[in-house]
Amino acid sequence: MYARRLKTAVVLFLLLSTPGIAQTPQPESHPLVVIRAAKLLDVKNGKEVLNPVVIIDGARIKEVGPGIPIPAGAQVQVIDLGKATLMPGLVDAHTHLLQNYDFAYGGDDNNMVLTVAQMSPAERALLGAKMGREDLEAGITTVRDVGNSGINGDVALRDAINKGWVSGPHIVASTRALSAPGGQFGNLQHDAQALVEQEYVAIATVDEARRAVQQAFYDGADCIKVIVNTGPRVVSLEEMKAIVEEAHRVHRKVAAHAIGDDATRIAAEAGVDSIEHAYTVPDDVLQMMAAKKIFLVPTDYPADFYMSFVSATKTADERKQEEAMFSRFAQRNHDRLRRAIAAGVRIAAGSDQYYQVGKLTRGESSKRTFQAYSESGMTPWQIIQAATVNGAELLGWQDRVGSIEPGKFADILATDGNPAEDVTELQKVKFVMKSGEVVRNDLSSR
Ligand SMILES: [Zn+2]
Repeated sequence: MYARRLKTAVVLFLLLSTPGIAQTPQPESHPLVVIRAAKLLDVKNGKEVLNPVVIIDGARIKEVGPGIPIPAGAQVQVIDLGKATLMPGLVDAHTHLLQNYDFAYGGDDNNMVLTVAQMSPAERALLGAKMGREDLEAGITTVRDVGNSGINGDVALRDAINKGWVSGPHIVASTRALSAPGGQFGNLQHDAQALVEQEYVAIATVDEARRAVQQAFYDGADCIKVIVNTGPRVVSLEEMKAIVEEAHRVHRKVAAHAIGDDATRIAAEAGVDSIEHAYTVPDDVLQMMAAKKIFLVPTDYPADFYMSFVSATKTADERKQEEAMFSRFAQRNHDRLRRAIAAGVRIAAGSDQYYQVGKLTRGESSKRTFQAYSESGMTPWQIIQAATVNGAELLGWQDRVGSIEPGKFADILATDGNPAEDVTELQKVKFVMKSGEVVRNDLSSR
């Protein structure tokens, strides 16, 4: 420890005494990038801006407005997107980039064991790099990754992206989720239960809850994820309160996986920042969420999407039963989303996508949630705001992502049509920029 402090002191001394390092002025003529298009969605105010010009300096937006003059000079690169509509990059508040389950192995229980037992953290981080790239190309420029990443694989991926080693979205990482013993694993024999701690940190007392939060921050977490309930294993209200207090003490957020009356009530009473899924949730808990400004992250999909999970090997009768079950599930989710919005609960979009769905990329399958939101009665503007400004606020990143404004990251997507009129345009993103760098451009420079 002494040697480390000494080294820190030496480095500081060198930094302070080296002439010119701190004082070097920014070169005057560094290049600016300018994007022009027909429309821009001002997501904060729910308004369309005509003939927008966005001036980008490095990773960040310098200026934006209708028809503002393009700075003269050879150091300006103009990207003219013609008739396209611009909007901020999407925020997915609930991802699992380091898992990509396969329906062929059965459901979650089988896939979880196979993933954790067979894949090294390094291999999972590389898988995450692929999933992250697929999100980015679909216009998802920021994600909150909420666990199931092995031991700190999400931190490794986040840092690799930030260093420019691989291309991917901005990541808010949670490290391992806190949970009751067993995490979300299905039945495991005694010797196999060691697998659990690869994926979850078990807590059974208030002290363990506090320790787990502190450990997560030491491990590099930006936020905390808690699995409030898995079957009859439920984190107690006292433990939840300790988790929230410990995270909020250092201005970090808590995301709570909670389903059903008891778990959603515990999460809301404890004052978490978001409740994930809440496939069933009573009205009084929704009211508490609205009063405490707790976001709902509805990880919903349209009925036809769930139908695609129905195995082809089943008998006609079994298929019919499963189809009816998925249809009821989707309908119930639509109903609870309507009740949440009516109660005044704010919505942040989250995909919870962790399966390979046919040949869809991770980004393409994740955006199918928007269809479910639409079927629940959300307007295109409400969906766009859930997937931009609201997500940014939930992450605590409202100063850097979620809208096209000066000072924020230049995270911008473009579509041919106008997503504020037809939200399915978001399935056909044609241009993506992240931190000022063009990720894709299928629009000819017109
Ligand atoms: Zn999830």
